[in-house]
Amino acid sequence: MHTPDPTPLTRALVWFRRDLRVEDHAALSRALTHACEVLCVFVFDRAILDSLPRCDRRLEFIRDSVAELDERLHALAASHGTTGVRLIVRHGQAVDEVPRLAQQLQAQAVFVNHDDDPDALTRDAAVRTALSRLHIAWYSSKDHVVFERSELLTGAGKPYSVFTPYKNAWLKQWQPKDVQPFDTLQNAHRLSAVDAEFARGVPTLAELGFEATNLRELNILTGTSGARQLLANFQTRMARYEDARNFPAIKGPSYLSVHLRFGTISIRELVRAATESQSPSATPRSRGAEVWLSELIWRDFYHQVLHHHPHVVKASFKPQYDAIEWEQGPQAEAAFALWCQGQTGYPLVDAAMAQLNQTGYMHNRLRMVAASFLVKDLGIDWRWGERYFAQTLIDFDLAANNGGWQWAASTGCDAQPYFRIFNPVSQSEKFDAAGQFIRRYVPALAGLPDAQIHAPWQAKPLALQAAGVQLGTHYPQPMVQHDEARARTLARYGVVKSAGEAFVSGAKGAFSG
Ligand code: FAD
Repeated sequence: MHTPDPTPLTRALVWFRRDLRVEDHAALSRALTHACEVLCVFVFDRAILDSLPRCDRRLEFIRDSVAELDERLHALAASHGTTGVRLIVRHGQAVDEVPRLAQQLQAQAVFVNHDDDPDALTRDAAVRTALSRLHIAWYSSKDHVVFERSELLTGAGKPYSVFTPYKNAWLKQWQPKDVQPFDTLQNAHRLSAVDAEFARGVPTLAELGFEATNLRELNILTGTSGARQLLANFQTRMARYEDARNFPAIKGPSYLSVHLRFGTISIRELVRAATESQSPSATPRSRGAEVWLSELIWRDFYHQVLHHHPHVVKASFKPQYDAIEWEQGPQAEAAFALWCQGQTGYPLVDAAMAQLNQTGYMHNRLRMVAASFLVKDLGIDWRWGERYFAQTLIDFDLAANNGGWQWAASTGCDAQPYFRIFNPVSQSEKFDAAGQFIRRYVPALAGLPDAQIHAPWQAKPLALQAAGVQLGTHYPQPMVQHDEARARTLARYGVVKSAGEAFVSGAKGAFSG
């Protein structure tokens, strides 16, 4: 679904945003089809950059991926006989830079891929208005998800609010053509060289006003080359995904989320990788691939939730949950700070937060456990945690993060029921039984035997002594008792129960617990 097809154009500008690749790129493909000369731009948007801390892994990931995009555009054009093609890179306010550049280049149209985040929609509306004053057209295409906006609706024409029927409808509707790559090769000769005054190269981090992070030390692979390497590795493990994905100490998931976020690889390529997409029924390649495909569908699901229910950015999906009274004041702020620092005294939660703080990534199982702990053990508003994840996650994606937090807090679309409360100790015993993950991220506990590492306050003094652990000195005492916290949470959520929500003992949420 996209804006109507353009009339033939002399010159067009493609504005890259969350789609930092040259292959299988809807807007680039469309511009190359309809314009004789195509130029490309990326803007380091000060409207976003100025609010970031000076050391930000995302910014470094984007910078390196933009540098690779520049090289790939250059190589693509060169392989079709045009030399001197470079990505134009600007550092300023996108709302000013894009119209100005389009005018300077005498482009007749700007091509983009949809970005449905509320701030991006506001930005795009402003750019569009400025362009229309200049009589420059705007063409926008679906690219970031397989089905978007209102492409999948219930029989009654309403958006889905429960995942399983959404997934069934997605699987029923999709056909190999939905994940066909957008061709950017056939007309690549139309990529146009730019004058040196426009192509000033990709700024360094320092030129952008940022400092290097530990991205390279962590060996986080950037750009399309990085995404392809991760995908190739995951393809050797995909069949085992279902069994491996819940255990943070093993390499179960794909680690592709940051690449999906910034579009260094297309969602269509990943769906093709999970399926025999050439066959008419487009079946998954294995049970592991089927489960992984489901995760990609969750991503589409949350994007359509955000599109149809933009109020979720500020409030609960289910309004009755806004009546919940969360902890407030200095004590809540102090408890929140301990959670952020991974100092709760619950080893799996602390290891999860250490992984986030040290790497910008957190395993999915741990996102659920850490989020549940903040909301249902500490009684803190899910929005505080959502904000911390938004600041810290390298793969931060508004739709998925908001969906994940509202799922954990039970306030969301198809969330887990409020009375289903993760026990952080049994989650630890189940998903990190040998304490391997905890030992990696909470080295103070490394010497404890497997059986005691999940709840060190229950360990015998001799075991603690042998492991060199003094609780309160080397590692904190638990900040709350889970059973007491659980009772407080059930009371806190009582306002919802009294608003008519049924308590169904043993009911299961959509995620396996
Ligand atoms: P894989 O297991 O390999 O999954 C493949 C892809 O499917 C992911 O890269 C992601 O794009 C998508 N996906 C998987 N699970 C989900 C899900 N539950 N919802 C939506 N998409 C999913 N994901 C983000 O991309 N950005 C976020 O900001 C984010 N915040 C989250 C916050 C909370 C509280 C929770 C519970 C989940 C959050 N997720 C988020 C979803 C999920 O945790 C990550 O997508 C996943 O851990 C990324 O690792 P991976 O690429 O190895 O995933």
